[in-house]
Amino acid sequence: MKRFALAGNPNCGKTTLFNNLTGSTAHVGNWPGVTVEKKDGVYKKLSEPIKIIDLPGIYSLSPYTSEEVISRNYILDEKPDCVINIVDATNLERNLYLTTQLLEIDVPVVVAVNMMDVLEKNGDTLDEKVLEKKLGVPVVKISALEEANLKELMERAFEASEKKREGVSILENKDLKHLVGDVKIAFKGKKVENPLFHAIKLVENDEIEAKMHEELLPMVEEFKQTLHDETFGNDIEAIIADERYNYISKNFSKVIVHSELTEEKKVKENKSDRIDKVLTHKVWGLLIFAVILFFVFHLTFSENLFFLGGLFKDVAPSFEGSIYEGLFWTDGGINSPGVILFNFFDMSFSGIIDAVSGAMASGLGEGHWLTGFLCDGVLSGLFAILGFLPQILVLFLFFSIMEDTGYMARVAFILDRIFRKFGLSGRAFIPMIMGFGCSVPAMINTRTLADEHEKIATIRVIPFFSCGAKLPILVAIAGGVCEVFGFSSVDLITYSMYVVGVITAIIAVLIMRHSTQRGEAAPFIMELPQYHWPQFRALMIHLWDKTKHFVKKAFTIILASTIIIWFLSNFGWDWKMCEMEDSILASIGKFIQPLFTPLGFGSQLSTFGWVFAVAAITGLIAKENVIATFSVLAAVIVAGFEGTEEGVAEAVVMITNTGITWPGAIAFIAFNMLTIPCFAACATARGELQKGTFKWTLLFWIAASFIGASFVYCFLSMFSTDTLAWAIPCTAVFIALGVLTVFYLRYYERKQNAKVA
Ligand code: GDP
Repeated sequence: MKRFALAGNPNCGKTTLFNNLTGSTAHVGNWPGVTVEKKDGVYKKLSEPIKIIDLPGIYSLSPYTSEEVISRNYILDEKPDCVINIVDATNLERNLYLTTQLLEIDVPVVVAVNMMDVLEKNGDTLDEKVLEKKLGVPVVKISALEEANLKELMERAFEASEKKREGVSILENKDLKHLVGDVKIAFKGKKVENPLFHAIKLVENDEIEAKMHEELLPMVEEFKQTLHDETFGNDIEAIIADERYNYISKNFSKVIVHSELTEEKKVKENKSDRIDKVLTHKVWGLLIFAVILFFVFHLTFSENLFFLGGLFKDVAPSFEGSIYEGLFWTDGGINSPGVILFNFFDMSFSGIIDAVSGAMASGLGEGHWLTGFLCDGVLSGLFAILGFLPQILVLFLFFSIMEDTGYMARVAFILDRIFRKFGLSGRAFIPMIMGFGCSVPAMINTRTLADEHEKIATIRVIPFFSCGAKLPILVAIAGGVCEVFGFSSVDLITYSMYVVGVITAIIAVLIMRHSTQRGEAAPFIMELPQYHWPQFRALMIHLWDKTKHFVKKAFTIILASTIIIWFLSNFGWDWKMCEMEDSILASIGKFIQPLFTPLGFGSQLSTFGWVFAVAAITGLIAKENVIATFSVLAAVIVAGFEGTEEGVAEAVVMITNTGITWPGAIAFIAFNMLTIPCFAACATARGELQKGTFKWTLLFWIAASFIGASFVYCFLSMFSTDTLAWAIPCTAVFIALGVLTVFYLRYYERKQNAKVA
């Protein structure tokens, strides 16, 4: 099968094109750096199927970032039949920089000028014939988003792939040309493929190239002495970059003919500038971001939407006891859309469980173990998790809208200023915010960070950005706390826990960047994408991705875990059914329970106190398991238990049956947010980190969760009547351990460095 590779700058629309060509649903993000790994798919609309490879977004083929190296190696080593170079028409000159480098490789190239719809809307025109003539390769105008001209693009690429193409260079400086020519001849003599590309790279002093062809270096060095540029001295890399830019601006600055600025366009440009002035303002920008986040959470979790409940209190009684009350109404407050959806699913699931258990009871007789297994073990665990899907989707719908409109990129921009103070570049913000979705892709995205230490620090704090799977823990326990202890705002607790995660991340990064992970944050260059209305298709792709992932996980890993938990909590070591107190699970739980005493959910709890220890452990497999565990155990603790609203009932059973205090319950949330993430995230971290760093990373997560949660517990206990006899000395010990760890790591790092030196 022929292979066509897509190459282009970040944010040029590569993923959109890839999705439309191959019918895939890869993540499209309106910010640079979303595609890091290469993906492939098949285009089927030509006479033969074509494999399409989506390479990471890059600005050049230099060896400085891993995306560049991945793309470069792919094109050079795997030799695709054609490279489709996507250039963003709204940013033509900058995008052509990469094109000038691709042209140097002996591979068929077709240039796809994307975003033509935007250009046309502005009334501008682009003369592709000029481009074609100067570049010497086919140029096709497309719109990936509107799927315009894609067939033509593929036909032209197919045609091109049938012919051989030899690399050409745009260098015009006579001396340089001469030098490159000589090196090229030397390469040719050695039968090196792509001699022109390698020659230019070697002349540029490219690290990879220099390592590969040391024998040619003296010749280049000698020649360099003769070359002197007024501006750049003999920094050849800079001279060549300058040549490229000059060539582009000389030949292509007039390719796009701008329409006279129409009134309408002027107004639009002004508007976008004015919006940016506010949204990226030092103070207002941050404030607006915080307010937007609060609204997002409010619309997703609140049971008292905009505090409007009072307005309707006169009509409320007429709904009492009706199905509407369950859906739309909670204690006199109006439910937010997220909660309404949640209630809908919840009611349906309870109905199913009732029907199944009723049917089984009449068939098998009351209290049969199979009924317990199926209803309490399998179904309640599964539904406890699936019930969260609607809220997760609502939350991600908002996030996707923020991303797709281009707002998230502004947030990255304002946060860059702040990040710098903590020793990170704004680039690190992207994987971090992705962490709110799922740590796995977020960790993979850290490949865009140039500094290895920055990468390690970022991977370590990504789990603190509470992912979708941790949401059930937050909502259920916060709900339970509110119900048992009479607090009013679930959404406020949820929101503050997200904030706790972010603050911990900041503190941890600060410590690491000043101790074990020192380094320079690379400069962050990011252009702000244009604002546009969210694309329905892109939003649906995001939500569908989430749903697929979530449902798959529920039916595999979580289903299996709930079954195992049910067995362990119903059987003793003698493999006979027994009371839960004597079960295998109880004995394991009781064994580790004392560890959590300083965190408020250890030995100080009564009868079933060990369930928190157990839930924390099952959460290591997948975070959804924490509430699924509660759900299975609640059904064992309370005969005839029915899970209701938001997994809250489960949490209420746990709180009332263990005697945990509210600071302890909130510390439990904090612990789960900060501790070792799920298996999948650990495996990813292990893959991304250099050998030897992973075990320290595990230790870091354990330390962070113990220190963080015991701090939360101590702090909140000041506002409650909880006794702190244990907590304070233990927290002191944890903090001391933390400090010692940092010092040890410092020492260890010095030793390592000394070895390397
Ligand atoms: P990548 O980073 O190169 O993979 O770019 P994406 O495919 O993620 O696209 C970046 C942004 O540009 C997204 O918001 C897309 O919806 C948008 N986009 C992509 N192609 C087009 C196009 O042809 N026209 C317009 N108007 N927007 C586009």
